[in-house]
Amino acid sequence: MARWVLGCPDCKEDFTHSQIDTEAMPSLRDPFAWLGDKPEFPIAGLSLECPNCKKISVYSRTQLVYRAM
Ligand SMILES: [Zn+2]
Repeated sequence: MARWVLGCPDCKEDFTHSQIDTEAMPSLRDPFAWLGDKPEFPIAGLSLECPNCKKISVYSRTQLVYRAM
């Protein structure tokens, strides 16, 4: 399943922010259709704990990366 990932600045591992339901949104199967369709983030950024190293970092929406699998 396609997903949005964020890269931890500490351990450099990617982790899943959210999965993209391509069944519910077939238009997202188009590799370019989703580009303007990123999940909303708070203006100040979103605090998330890295599941790999447990470090809490603040992420911005521009750091979201699309992964097809
Ligand atoms: Zn990490």
